[in-house]
Amino acid sequence: MDLVVARPEGLYCPPGDFYIDPWRPVERAVITHAHGDHARWGMGHYLASRDSEGILRSRIAADMPLQTLAYGEPIEHHGVRLSFHPAGHVLGSAQVRLEYKGEVWVASGDYKVEPDGTCAPFEPVRCHTFITESTFGLPIYKWPSQAEIFREINDWWRANAAAGRASVLFCYAFGKAQRILHGLDESIGSIVVHGAVEPLNKVYREGGIYLPPTVYAGDLKKGDPRLKHAIILAPPSAGGSTWMRRFGDYADAFASGWMMLRGTRRRRGVDRGFVLSDHADWPGLLWAIEQTGAERVMVTHGSVAVLVRYLREMRGLDAQAFETEYGDEDDATSQEAE
Ligand SMILES: [Zn+2]
Ligand SMILES: [Zn+2]
Repeated sequence: MDLVVARPEGLYCPPGDFYIDPWRPVERAVITHAHGDHARWGMGHYLASRDSEGILRSRIAADMPLQTLAYGEPIEHHGVRLSFHPAGHVLGSAQVRLEYKGEVWVASGDYKVEPDGTCAPFEPVRCHTFITESTFGLPIYKWPSQAEIFREINDWWRANAAAGRASVLFCYAFGKAQRILHGLDESIGSIVVHGAVEPLNKVYREGGIYLPPTVYAGDLKKGDPRLKHAIILAPPSAGGSTWMRRFGDYADAFASGWMMLRGTRRRRGVDRGFVLSDHADWPGLLWAIEQTGAERVMVTHGSVAVLVRYLREMRGLDAQAFETEYGDEDDATSQEAE
């Protein structure tokens, strides 16, 4: 029996009668993480990891009907034993483990296998069937080390500061921004953040994650002397808006896994691109799939066809596609409005 099937409302667990990251309003929703395409408004009841509570309440509603579980803490519903396990994607992100009559399925949500210091590291979970994302499921995607990327970002910032101009770094407001903050060299200058970023920083800090001190952009006026040496973190939607005027002369850059493709950077029209993703790269996806020991793999959002074919032909696995409506928060062209 399949513990998860694709329905028009989302991924559904028939014996448990609940959905995982549904994209339409349903009675019972199990949420893997708080990105907008996975955690939506309007569910009758939400179940999520304890670490995701602050972000969910700040993004959906403070009084949302939310029940939480610590990582590894099981709950039983209609005979289905459910638990959350770290996915290493953003604060609170979880894989969902389901066990029913000896059968084990794990739904990954979005995940990244390299630990980053801003959320619990990815933990492989043994299962019979693994539902994996495939956002960067092409062999061309192989991330440089994080240390290397942070060195590049800090060097770029330092060089701009030496030339007396601000550095504007566009990045997704939840997850990516906090990860960048965590890796910045705060001795270079002030760190300024957009209004979409600061409320999330607060939740991370309350969760015990170290982020350097930040200045809210709204508190700065044009010509503020701090701006000459500052780095500014802003969502891509702020690019080209009047909001940018206060920064005077600035250099800009974009941080995303898609920056591996030269064409993407050109389309964004920024000076620099930094290859930094909160998703597993191709070797990471294959490693994670292998670690689960699963013989059956269901592939969701991303390069579904390529990964399915590779798993079938090269790994001899029973791989299939799952139709979903998840977007891609790492994609500059599909940003939710913030
Ligand atoms: Zn995500
Ligand atoms: Zn996703």
